Amino acid sequence: MKLISIVVPCYNEQETVEIFYKEIIKVINELPDYGFEIVYINDGSKDNTAEYIYKLTKLDSRIAFIDLSRNFGKEAGLLAGLQYAKGDAVVVMDVDLQDPPNLLPELISNWEKGHDIVYTRRTNRDGEPLIRSWFAKLFYKLINKLSDVEIVDGARDYRIMDRRVVNSLLDLGEKNRFSKGLFMWVGYDCKCIEFQHVERVAGETSWSFWKLFGYAIDGIVSFTNFPLKIASIFGIIVSLLSFIFLIYVVIKNTIFENPVSGWASMTSIICFLGGIQLIVIGVIGEYVGKVFNEVKARPQYIVKDYIESSFNKGEQNEN
Ligand code: UDP
Ligand code: MG
Repeated sequence: MKLISIVVPCYNEQETVEIFYKEIIKVINELPDYGFEIVYINDGSKDNTAEYIYKLTKLDSRIAFIDLSRNFGKEAGLLAGLQYAKGDAVVVMDVDLQDPPNLLPELISNWEKGHDIVYTRRTNRDGEPLIRSWFAKLFYKLINKLSDVEIVDGARDYRIMDRRVVNSLLDLGEKNRFSKGLFMWVGYDCKCIEFQHVERVAGETSWSFWKLFGYAIDGIVSFTNFPLKIASIFGIIVSLLSFIFLIYVVIKNTIFENPVSGWASMTSIICFLGGIQLIVIGVIGEYVGKVFNEVKARPQYIVKDYIESSFNKGEQNEN
């Protein structure tokens, strides 16, 4: 029997942990040909998420529970899940039911047809603030233009991945992970399934606008060096313009003997160049910061407690 691991990162999700379990169990029960484990990750929640998950592990031995020592962010939680998942295929899902569990049979059947990755894509962004949608669109346009990975607009983390894809993801050495990009970067045979946006079943999103903005910058810095080239491009343009201006000033002074007037123009030019230099230093700083984090090579997460699901100990050993 093939085992499918469902990895669910949770942060302050006490309202949704149980609802998710009830919904996913309905779907799983319709798929008797597979073994399932549900890997809940508690990403340092400040509410009672951990207790709720712990209760579920008592109810159902198919549940694994990874309790992280603090909030490390969704990326880290996801990585922990992938590292601990034992399945022949791994499904990644949000716990708030924004990733509809009823798509699961379709994901699995497509995986069985030989697609290594079957991912889902939201076709609309209803209920989202306009400015957020606009920035999201801009982000996808930018990253797809600048980097060599193609990140589909609206693609969710909700996906099934074959064991070999998961192993490739785990083999990647980088600490600072931008999964949306890495999922595409590893390649393999991908198939997309589309669905309509679903509202959160309960609880609140933990992504503020600025958190998402930082996430987007992270993605761009992780996947393209283009912003670094902007410095050189600015440099070349400004040098050329200055040279032309220099010739103009020399001619004006020597032939027409007309002294250059005005400190205002001078100050604006100095301020303008100062601004550009600061921006460029900032861009370089982003990359240096990334390198610093990679060099420190701290673990992406720390596991405080781990409760294993029973599948491996039971059914799989019999095979
Ligand atoms: N999440 C997490 N750690 C965090 C933030 C979020 O594990 O630091 C989880 C969260 O519990 C949920 C998923 O990531 O299962 C997606 O988060 P959320 O629903 O808040 O994001 P949105 O759907 O609004 O983008
Ligand atoms: Mg959500």
